[in-house]
Amino acid sequence: MNKLSNFLVFNNTTLKNSFVKIENLGKGILLLVDDNLKLIRTVTDGDLRRLLLKTGNINITLDNLPKLAPVTITYSISNVEALKLMNDYAINHLPILGVNGDVVDIIYRSDLDKKILLSTPHLGGEEINYISDAIQTNWVAPVGPNIDAFENEIASYVGIQNAAAVSSGTAAIHLALRVLNISSNDLVYCSSLTFVGSVNPILYQCAQPVFIDSEMMTWNMCPKALERAFHYHSSLGKLPKAVIVVSLYGQSANMDPLLDLCKFYKVPLIEDAAESLGAIYKHKYSGTMGDLGIYSFNGNKIITTSGGGMLVSNNSSYIDRAKYFATQAKLNEAYYEHTEVGYNYRMSNILAGIGRGQLKVIENRINSRREIFEKYSTSINNPDQIKWMPTDVNGRSTHWLSSAILRRHHPELIIERLSNDNIEARRVWKPMHMQPLFRNCDYFTASSEIDNSRYLFEHGICFPSGSNLRQNEIDRVISSIHCAIM
Ligand SMILES: *Cc1c(COP(=O)(O)O)cnc(C)c1O
Repeated sequence: MNKLSNFLVFNNTTLKNSFVKIENLGKGILLLVDDNLKLIRTVTDGDLRRLLLKTGNINITLDNLPKLAPVTITYSISNVEALKLMNDYAINHLPILGVNGDVVDIIYRSDLDKKILLSTPHLGGEEINYISDAIQTNWVAPVGPNIDAFENEIASYVGIQNAAAVSSGTAAIHLALRVLNISSNDLVYCSSLTFVGSVNPILYQCAQPVFIDSEMMTWNMCPKALERAFHYHSSLGKLPKAVIVVSLYGQSANMDPLLDLCKFYKVPLIEDAAESLGAIYKHKYSGTMGDLGIYSFNGNKIITTSGGGMLVSNNSSYIDRAKYFATQAKLNEAYYEHTEVGYNYRMSNILAGIGRGQLKVIENRINSRREIFEKYSTSINNPDQIKWMPTDVNGRSTHWLSSAILRRHHPELIIERLSNDNIEARRVWKPMHMQPLFRNCDYFTASSEIDNSRYLFEHGICFPSGSNLRQNEIDRVISSIHCAIM
């Protein structure tokens, strides 16, 4: 990004030096300021050319420019209003003045037009080589060298023994339930605050979801609420067959107490790390601490295969079973022999190639998303208006989505205001215990007065967080949030 000081010219700057400057910056604008750096006027390449034509002297200084009050804005103006001003004055840029009247930034027409989305795919460049390889070697099937390599590479990245690449994160959860023999009327505990993809596979198995509340520290499953649920069901003599712990927005759940409880009650734990690949909890990677873990490579996740998922486990028999179920449960015979229901869930060798290219840049992607959160949370440091999701609780968060709690405004209002500035923001997941689909399911909180997942839904908001956001787009989001919460 160009530093603002590069745009400054003075009354005694020559026309020649101004041409050099404007050419080097490539933005078509300079800022003529006085000795106290107060803006006198903006200078476009057109202004410079007109002065040259009029005087024929390339060494003339800028004090010969006509005096012209500049059109300026402050951060409190919305992008829609800024665009209108640009149209009214037939200009393509506007200096932004700070509180003491100094120019703090310049906004360009090109910055205003582009829609800023929540999280979009961000290719690394090497994906195409793996895809071409797959096509040239005719491995265009749900079997092939990219799949094996991608499984090994993911396993070694997170530090786990076995992995199975599948067609989606949801498929991976379904397979996890299948290898744990979850069936009709079994209870399965799951975080209430999550995407429905965590829970639908429980219904595929005709099992019964039971929802567990979040804690405020990680926004993920509350150990106290889990304990209450276990206590209740053990007193009835009907324990759950599995617990699905979700790690949202790049922050791992508080795994130790959750694992301890599951061990105590001898119930397997599935980690839904669809949103937290690359997150670290006490030196371990998210997704590797339970009996089984899953990742998603959907288009909006931290890395993508356009669509896909991975099931991981240190127990090789789970992964072998999962691969068998994922290929129609075909027995190893010379003909097609089946004794159980299976699925067509394997990942294609072409998509695994995209995943291999993506995995090469995962640390860059994590750093970018962390920087975006850092910029948002330091620029908008206004705790009675907005409370940012806690950072790096027990390790490293990837900040897959920069999320916060709004204290004064309804999230819909802020989403609408950002949308007027062509910026996409979204509500936090609507908890499963509030969904009509699950209205008959049980829900456990830490105590009767608390419902954290409902609170997080009612006040939470997620801001654009794609690792491909440019600095000017991050600045646009920050100024838009500033205006929106005024
Ligand atoms: C995205 C997501 C899933 C599902 O992954 P897909 O690959 O889209 O099937 C599951 N759980 C959570 C928490 C997710 O965010």
